[in-house]
Amino acid sequence: MNSIECMEHAEQDILHTYNRYPIVLEHGTGVCLFDTDGKQYLDFASGIGVCALGYGNEEYFGALKDQAARLIHTSNLFYNGPVIEAAGRLKAASGMDRVFFTNSGAEAIEGAIKAAKKYAYTRDGHTDHEIIAMRNSFHGRTLGALSVTGNEHYREAFAPLLAGVRFADFNNLESVKEQMNEKTCAIILETVQGEGGIYPARAEFLEGLAELCKEKDILLILDEIQCGMGRSGKMFAWQNYKVRPDIMTAAKALGCGVPVGAFLMTERVAKKSLAPGDHGTTYGGNPFAGAAVSKTLEIMERDHLTDHVRNISGYLWDRLDEIKEKHACVSDHRGMGLMQGIELKADVSAGEVSKKALERGLILITAGSNVLRFLPPLIIGQEHVDEMYDILNDILSEL
Ligand SMILES: *Cc1c(COP(=O)(O)O)cnc(C)c1O
Repeated sequence: MNSIECMEHAEQDILHTYNRYPIVLEHGTGVCLFDTDGKQYLDFASGIGVCALGYGNEEYFGALKDQAARLIHTSNLFYNGPVIEAAGRLKAASGMDRVFFTNSGAEAIEGAIKAAKKYAYTRDGHTDHEIIAMRNSFHGRTLGALSVTGNEHYREAFAPLLAGVRFADFNNLESVKEQMNEKTCAIILETVQGEGGIYPARAEFLEGLAELCKEKDILLILDEIQCGMGRSGKMFAWQNYKVRPDIMTAAKALGCGVPVGAFLMTERVAKKSLAPGDHGTTYGGNPFAGAAVSKTLEIMERDHLTDHVRNISGYLWDRLDEIKEKHACVSDHRGMGLMQGIELKADVSAGEVSKKALERGLILITAGSNVLRFLPPLIIGQEHVDEMYDILNDILSEL
């Protein structure tokens, strides 16, 4: 099948929920991807923040191969070694106490919501607890995750969603306080809003929230699905602040491409939360996913990947600031670590820039209303940042 035939089949057979870029990716190496026509692309999206180690990492692939040959699945009715090792590494990296592995980010959010509700129920026996979520947030597409996603466009057709969710403004502590009442059991937010357009939480906001939560025994749920796993320059973005969540979620780069997510909690929460019979999954935390998580964390820690992220993200920051200075169409530049965005003025479409970038061999995706999102593999080097800069600079100059 050539690439045109591939795309025709896809449009006939696969439910049309995505407007895809017109290329068929075939293989990758380092920070580059190749399509079925042999064209090379510099990757600044890493499969939406998933492929943190880039492509063709022999050590990671070797671990998957070994585990696939040994045992892929057991069900959670039995213990398995790889997921126990993965849980230990994830606990050590996060400082959290208990982990539940899921198959996706949205499922991790579902679990986090259930864990918070069960905690509150154990405490007071009430069944009308409420959750505060943020406007402009994104937590996934399943019904529970959608219920806390602050984007009307994604939600409207699927109403009624989960009852008892109130929305507040991100980075506005007063707005959160206005939504709080005696029924509030949890506050959920992304440490750095991703899909909404790359907005990091301000320190005084997040630290204020954490204090408020502590005061009132409300659980702070931090969604680290996109900003976690080293991308911020720390293993988890909240580690850049003086806070510790009660519950957190991870996914995306957690398995570097093997579908796996997790929600984690402190022992204090775990003691009053999900117990046998309350939650489960057939696949979640199987040995194959466990091997992927374990090897990913092992490589990231051994190679001090977060140090590299802190260095290289400073370089990316400077180069994108140059872009902002040079081009009047750029209205803002924000982000944290290797999760950065530049916002374009309304007369220039980020989608159009992204399409032009693809034609020139650069994969660059969008976020929010008109934001170009930079989410490269964490192993990116200066030369790749420079290459990206040249392409983007050309495109913006020609507009
Ligand atoms: C991608 C994402 C999710 C959903 O993850 P899926 O694996 O697509 O279900 C949730 N929260 C955030 C912050 C995300 O970026």
